[in-house]
Amino acid sequence: MSRVVVVGAGIAGFLSALELSDRGWQVSLLDAGPARPSASWAGGGILSPLFPWRYPSSLLPLTRHARRDYATWQQRIIQAGGMDPELLDGGMVVLADAAGQRQAGDWAVSNNIVLQAGPAASWFPWLEQTAICLPDVARIRNPRLLKGLATLVRQSPVRWLQGHVEAVSSFPSGVRLETSCGVLEADHALITAGAWSHKLLPELMPLTYPVKGQMLLYQAPQAFPEKVLLTEQGYLIPRSGGLLLAGSTVEPDQWDGRPTEHACEQLAETVAQLWPALQRVQPLAQWSGIRPGCKRPVPVIGQVPDSHDRLWVNTGHFRNGLVCGPASARLVAELISGQMPFCDPAAYSVSSSSSSPP
Ligand SMILES: Cc1cc2nc3c(=O)[nH]c(=O)nc-3n(C[C@H](O)[C@H](O)[C@H](O)COP(=O)(O)OP(=O)(O)OC[C@H]3O[C@@H](n4cnc5c(N)ncnc54)[C@H](O)[C@@H]3O)c2cc1C
Repeated sequence: MSRVVVVGAGIAGFLSALELSDRGWQVSLLDAGPARPSASWAGGGILSPLFPWRYPSSLLPLTRHARRDYATWQQRIIQAGGMDPELLDGGMVVLADAAGQRQAGDWAVSNNIVLQAGPAASWFPWLEQTAICLPDVARIRNPRLLKGLATLVRQSPVRWLQGHVEAVSSFPSGVRLETSCGVLEADHALITAGAWSHKLLPELMPLTYPVKGQMLLYQAPQAFPEKVLLTEQGYLIPRSGGLLLAGSTVEPDQWDGRPTEHACEQLAETVAQLWPALQRVQPLAQWSGIRPGCKRPVPVIGQVPDSHDRLWVNTGHFRNGLVCGPASARLVAELISGQMPFCDPAAYSVSSSSSSPP
């Protein structure tokens, strides 16, 4: 049986490890733990890119079946006795002027996506602008999803270790990882270390960078529609039990993961504009995560150049790591296993050049 080490247990690492294990690989999954907190626990769980029409069509294969794929993962998690990740339907409403509505409408028609346009008040009665609604957009509760995937991993043949990988090198015959738990050797290594991936793979240096994001959590004072509300300033995401997430800041090149008062004030101001009912409500919690930012609009998935086909990467998902999680993991597992990939991986390769993110 061939051995692969997966470095990093966020959404990319968990799903990639499980996809590889399902294909018969002997998988070790290493994670640095609290010293490098995973962005995946912090995310909002919207299963769509924000303003999806601003992305190139090459992102669509990684995003369009997220709801269907998470329904399958949800079923596996529940069957294993894990925590229900609360995959919820309801759609996403995006405030858009006439030009925005046209752009979104053209994108929806050419990609066969259901879209409704109209006054925002059709969905959120207190809003006066115009909007579009993508009724098929779902959402998932990240911390529960990650706990559920952890249950699946524990019950799988994957060997899950807490350990910090300090260096990775590749040879024609395999890979060698220097880690805080000693030296590991394997046939392949897959780097899913989120914002920290480029510290192990200098090849990523010009492409990826950290982008801190902060969120507030509220208890809604009255019922909020079962839809994500997205504007240029920020978004609100309803969760079960009347909880409401407000996000998020975009702070490039920030490695300090601590929440700040400034971000709290900035988010609270946006929240009051999006839903005046929250104007005088204090948030229940604030948190942050460091996203794996990417200087192009699609992530980095594939083989690391000049690594004897031994080193692989699945990172750079920036604001789309949850929505792209299942398809990206499947793709990288297919590539490592020498299977026919379900989509053309060229746009995601380390060496592919494309325009900057929207
Ligand atoms: C506030 C916020 C809101 C977001 N909202 C959404 C959303 O609504 N929808 C969406 O699709 N995406 C969203 N995202 C983006 C999404 O969360 C990220 O793209 C995604 O979580 C990245 O996952 P990852 O597995 O690549 O990285 P991470 O989750 O960061 O995991 C990386 C892991 O690697 C480990 N690691 C790092 N270095 C090493 C090492 N040397 N050795 C061993 N382990 C190592 C770390 O400990 C960490 O656990 C949001 C992000 C934030 C911060």
